[in-house]
Amino acid sequence: MHFRSRLNIKLSLLEENFRKLTALAPEKEVLFMVKADAYGHGMIPIVKFSHEKLGIKEFGVATLEEALKLRKELPHSKFEIYVFSDLQLPITENKEKFKQNRIIPVIATIGDLDYFLGEKDFKHFPLCLKFNTGMNRLGILSKDANFVARKIKDSGRKSIYHLMSHFSSASYPLNNENNQSQLNSFSEVKKVFKDNSIIIEKTSLANSGAIEQGFGLEESHIRPGLILYGPSSLNNENRKLSKWTGKNISSLETYIILTFEVKKGMPIGYGATPCPHDGIMAIIALGYGDGFSTRYQGAHLDHKGHRGIIIGRVNMDMSQILFSLESKEDIRTGENLVIWGNDPREILNFSDETRTIPYEIFCQLTERVPRVYT
Ligand SMILES: *Cc1c(COP(=O)(O)O)cnc(C)c1O
Repeated sequence: MHFRSRLNIKLSLLEENFRKLTALAPEKEVLFMVKADAYGHGMIPIVKFSHEKLGIKEFGVATLEEALKLRKELPHSKFEIYVFSDLQLPITENKEKFKQNRIIPVIATIGDLDYFLGEKDFKHFPLCLKFNTGMNRLGILSKDANFVARKIKDSGRKSIYHLMSHFSSASYPLNNENNQSQLNSFSEVKKVFKDNSIIIEKTSLANSGAIEQGFGLEESHIRPGLILYGPSSLNNENRKLSKWTGKNISSLETYIILTFEVKKGMPIGYGATPCPHDGIMAIIALGYGDGFSTRYQGAHLDHKGHRGIIIGRVNMDMSQILFSLESKEDIRTGENLVIWGNDPREILNFSDETRTIPYEIFCQLTERVPRVYT
């Protein structure tokens, strides 16, 4: 399988990243976010390695379906799974799946809370609550904390298993006003439960952006996603604030199917884009069918020290990269070409240039791109 586009994933780099994470946030328990197929890296191998080799005991996904897949494929493992957004809890069939598989729903609405507290099947099941401290997406409103405390007491419970909230602006600095007000609001929520003598067993707040800047680390847990896969999650203009030195665990490789000389003005591919200058055209085996988006047109890629540019429309199965004429001896049919490697600056530059984010670039890689683990 040499001549094939693939995502190479080095699990040893995940281990290295995990060591760096624990150095940045010592003593913190890690709830590793592996939603969306572990950000495109393959949820099962990533969780298996993280649990068995790194000792991570808690994982977060977005849907019940993802959680069930984890339980099914790794049946004897005793890690905790949280489902964050797509719960559809008040459906009998789903309720049983949560319960039988010990999958913890992250309760983020009063409706789900009422259902959960009222169900005798959940009587001894861990209660996990997510508050909206300013993200204004999902989450119980901070101002409802007292009301929630009363509901919890009325149900006969004495504790909350895991209390969490989520930053809207962790890719901005700590002094950003949203970060400040969310931190305050979360403290107030915790205080309400304390004042009501409700025990809080675990708390978490920090996602990648907060962890790499060193805030939101007063809680028992952290919830990293992106940084464990490699890149900083900070915006270009704030990236210098990041303390993160992890490596990209993946490299996206393809190969050059064909090279040929082109002249300025020559029509290239679908839409007959005029070639901007004389040069060497390399046709690579990646297109939008692989998740290599049409929006990558115009982005630059380096190969053997030569700067290439994605020219014309990205096709379903191929793309065209134009190099200068001087690179003629170096750009050869049949050779491998790396879109991004283990230096996280490569995917970050690529995502900046294509005005997207590494999260999206990873997630949109399709099944056609084999994930190869070493
Ligand atoms: C996805 C997610 C995270 C992880 O975010 P990163 O930016 O990838 O670290 C943490 N918490 C919640 C609630 C999430 O949805």
